[in-house]
Amino acid sequence: MRGAVLHAPGDVRVEDRDDPKITEPTDAVIRLTATCICGSDLWSYRGIEAVDGPSPMGHEYAGVVQEVGSEVGNIRPGQFVVGSFFASDNTCAICQAGYQSSCVQREPVGAEGAQAEYLRVPLADGTLVATPDIPPDDLVPSLLAASDVLGTGWFGAVAAEVGPGRSVVVVGDGAVGLLGVLAASQLGAERIIAMSRHEPRQQLARDYGATDIVTERGDDGVAKVKELTGGLGAQSVIEAVGTQESMLQAIRSTRPGGHVGYVGVAHGVELPGDELFFSHVHLHGGPAPVRRFLPELLELIWNRRIDPGKVFDLTLPLEEAAEGYRAMDERRAVKTLLRP
Ligand SMILES: [Zn+2]
Repeated sequence: MRGAVLHAPGDVRVEDRDDPKITEPTDAVIRLTATCICGSDLWSYRGIEAVDGPSPMGHEYAGVVQEVGSEVGNIRPGQFVVGSFFASDNTCAICQAGYQSSCVQREPVGAEGAQAEYLRVPLADGTLVATPDIPPDDLVPSLLAASDVLGTGWFGAVAAEVGPGRSVVVVGDGAVGLLGVLAASQLGAERIIAMSRHEPRQQLARDYGATDIVTERGDDGVAKVKELTGGLGAQSVIEAVGTQESMLQAIRSTRPGGHVGYVGVAHGVELPGDELFFSHVHLHGGPAPVRRFLPELLELIWNRRIDPGKVFDLTLPLEEAAEGYRAMDERRAVKTLLRP
């Protein structure tokens, strides 16, 4: 099969790779209908995370089951399925509590690379969720978004305790931040303040339900949020970047007693203990337990109640993955969908 491999920072190649096979009786192999490039793939593409030899890329996937292992009972060949970037049994105590991305049996799905024609998914029964039927083609981008960015934005909103009547700030205007806006809107937030400096992203944030846009950052951004929230700061803040600046932006934009949901993969974040102590904010986040939300999200998409697929503003054949990375790296694209 063909698959994308990162050889060094800035050097992605689509090359011939071994077809994945069933290696455990709980595995499934799926033929990908669509896959995509994640903002988190850019950490290694940019050399911020070390590249340790050629690395198969990608961890977001939607496609049709080709083959299942002997112990797979719920998932069948021919089904269209979506799953998360962590495989989970969905039965252990941690999964039952809704934290499938910390499952006691968790395995990364991306290790063999989902930017490819085929993908092996471990723990298929616990990991994959099937749609009612093979979807029409125009629903595929939204279903693919549920594999990571939608579920991650949704978890950010849930972790930030977004609910009816609440004021929400979203820090970060990448795909996860934009879908955090969508989630906040679906969860009934009254006011949704998106922090963004990029006009096309501001527009998409508004389409998804943002009521206000703040272009300022740092102390000016905090001042602007306070101005919009009666001087108090927001009740719920979604952090969707993962840098020191964005995390402090989130904490400082939250009112005492409010909640921060942080879903940007942390890189070099060090929180000042004294500021945290006196801030009186709740912090919750981490790798999103996307599997918890998948049944609900797939239903919303299937019934065309939400359209998270709009975050894909560039669609390319898998063979042109390198251009997809370049476009995201240069911020010419929010998110690139790849068609194997
Ligand atoms: Zn589990």
